[in-house]
Amino acid sequence: MKWEENVRRVVPYTAGEQPGRKGVIKLNTNENPYPPAPGVERRLRELETDRMRLYPPFPEQTKLASALGACYGIDTDRIFIGDGSDDVLSLAFLTFFQSGRPILFPDITYSFYPVWADLYRIPYRCAALDSDFKIRVEDYIPKAGESPVGGVVFPNPNAPTGVLMPVEEIERIVAANRDVVVIVDEAYIDFGGTSCLPLVDRYDNLLVVQTFSKSRSMAGMRIGYAMGSPKLIRYINDVKYSVNSYTMNYPALELGAAAVEDTAYFKECCGRIVRTRERAQQELGRLGFTFPRSYANFLFVSHERVPAKGIFEKLKENDIYVRYWDKERISNHLRITIGTDEQMEALYRALESIVQ
Ligand SMILES: *Cc1c(COP(=O)(O)O)cnc(C)c1O
Repeated sequence: MKWEENVRRVVPYTAGEQPGRKGVIKLNTNENPYPPAPGVERRLRELETDRMRLYPPFPEQTKLASALGACYGIDTDRIFIGDGSDDVLSLAFLTFFQSGRPILFPDITYSFYPVWADLYRIPYRCAALDSDFKIRVEDYIPKAGESPVGGVVFPNPNAPTGVLMPVEEIERIVAANRDVVVIVDEAYIDFGGTSCLPLVDRYDNLLVVQTFSKSRSMAGMRIGYAMGSPKLIRYINDVKYSVNSYTMNYPALELGAAAVEDTAYFKECCGRIVRTRERAQQELGRLGFTFPRSYANFLFVSHERVPAKGIFEKLKENDIYVRYWDKERISNHLRITIGTDEQMEALYRALESIVQ
């Protein structure tokens, strides 16, 4: 067909499988195994259907930003809210990576980055992680004579490795790249990492992105946010309002605010996952798996003898879903989300019989 010549062709991102069946142990998309804060359910019962006639009206629109501002101790003009952090990151690519020069991100990282880059026709370059799956900071420091990059983006902790970069190293990267925007994707920062958020006061080119999908148990509500200088936030808002003014619906705004207000539950829930993760590192080590030290709600493991692909398939036969990528450098690894203690016990039992 002639019209097909004028189609924007993209290879879409492939998310982990979402088996609809009950009884599946789902450790493949880094969802939180615990429910959202109790206040979320209370607020849900108070929602008024009559409010749904209207476009999200004002106090509601600002309520979530105010709750986040209070939680992180920053003004609301430094916060951008979107429909999951995938929406936030996509708009950030569209807004900030306009130079025509290649942007830079790790070779092993969130596989949505190359998809957005291709979608928006942004050229990119990948810097290889070292053999311990660490980001090599030097690769992100511009060298004399090298052509400048168009921007930088990486997750911290990195996905799917779980490896954490210390804030001092992030600061070196941000300070060395003052002419471009640096996006730090902190989807997993609440599981024991230290956020680089305090740096936004000193660096107006730093955008810190977080999400309700993992540590706040609300992947299905689609809430993400970015924090940065008021100028960055103004630019990304201008682009957002040029695409769709009302990405955030009334329930998401209300329930998101209720989740943020309960800091005690949040800490308790993250702490539980961290404890289960520490235990999982011991158990999996005992079964002959190796992995980089994880600061996320998942482990990136490979077995000393048994190929990852076979383990992945056998686990699936046992209704345990983990994530596997048939990709260069990581085709012998599995990414396993930390579930409840009971789910993890079932995993250890299944793995024990598979690797025997
Ligand atoms: C899960 C994830 C996100 C985004 O999730 P949303 O549900 O869209 O908020 C972003 N970055 C990384 C690295 C992730 O793993």
